[in-house]
Amino acid sequence: MKPNLSAEKLSTQTPSSLSVLTVAPEKVIRGSQILTEAAVAIAHLGSRPLIVGGRTLGVTQAHLQPILQQQRLHFAQASYAPDCSEASLEALRTIAKEHKADVIIGVGGGKALDTAKLVAQQLQLPVVTIPTSAATCAAWTALSNVYSDDGAFLYDVALSSCPDLLILDYDLIQTAPQRMLVAGIGDAIAKWYEASVSSGHSEQTLIISAVQQARVLRDILFQKSVAALQEPGSEVWKEVVDATVLLAGVIGGLGGAQCRTVAAHAVHNGLTQISGHSSIHGEKVAYGILVQLRLEEMVIGNQLAASARQQLLKFYAEIGLPKNLGDLGLGNITLSELQQSAEIALAPNSDIHRLPFKVALEQLMAAMVSTTAPVEGNRLTIMNDEL
Ligand SMILES: [Zn+2]
Repeated sequence: MKPNLSAEKLSTQTPSSLSVLTVAPEKVIRGSQILTEAAVAIAHLGSRPLIVGGRTLGVTQAHLQPILQQQRLHFAQASYAPDCSEASLEALRTIAKEHKADVIIGVGGGKALDTAKLVAQQLQLPVVTIPTSAATCAAWTALSNVYSDDGAFLYDVALSSCPDLLILDYDLIQTAPQRMLVAGIGDAIAKWYEASVSSGHSEQTLIISAVQQARVLRDILFQKSVAALQEPGSEVWKEVVDATVLLAGVIGGLGGAQCRTVAAHAVHNGLTQISGHSSIHGEKVAYGILVQLRLEEMVIGNQLAASARQQLLKFYAEIGLPKNLGDLGLGNITLSELQQSAEIALAPNSDIHRLPFKVALEQLMAAMVSTTAPVEGNRLTIMNDEL
């Protein structure tokens, strides 16, 4: 909360030229077996934490609670279930007030952390994020996504600061199923495919830097993901965890609101409206990258997009990311469900309109069912390669 005070002061002085940067958490503690040290840092922020989590609250009970007790912290805990929704946020604010919480600790995946960050902002309290998987960069960013109680994406909220403390404990991350890291890789590589489209022509120093970092992030993931997944807990695995949890967050922080998502996340948002979706955020986003590339290929004949899609299909096959609707468990959706999710993805305020061309509903639906199509004009490409 400290940076906000000065930001607020500034905003009264120069309201028109003010630009608040939310680049990074105040402090990041990273390593193995670090929770004892982390509890000391939490104690600096408050003495009555409210722990907000989901299914992984049980896992953390064993790891985190004894350490908080050692620090004589008087904690309570509550679940964000059923989702990071307005109803959950209201219930958690009540619990926090009843407990007289002076710091919020988010423990879990992206939704638990998004809920904790937003409750903390609403109550003007400091927030600590402790990710239990490498599935998103939510532990880092000053952004929360709000969903309906049924898990349909509603809107995102730009927060006034990044978390006060991020605790990245590799042992805790390793308790998550491998699938979570795979999804995190999908969400992280999307940064390049989306930022290069939305901000690739920017003249602004920090945005140019964010786009270049997104390319570096993609290359690290191309090079190290397979080895990391083969050896959880190894050095290369830690590097990939750092890439998905930390570097992806750096890019969001540097790029800010102008370095936005494009079609991959818009397609994700549309898919969350179909009932029965069981895939996780990064899996839907990974599929959404293929849809975005397919659109670039179909609508404006972009051959670079065509070859990027082939490169990704090979990478997805190696690490187990979904290549089509069937892989997402949505192989049996009806045409009207497909249309409904495409309509949501094309809503007037959707980031899909950051594509440098207009997309018709029929074109998006066609792209959504043809993510694995062979490259059109493939023979031409082969001939060119031979020349
Ligand atoms: Zn995402």
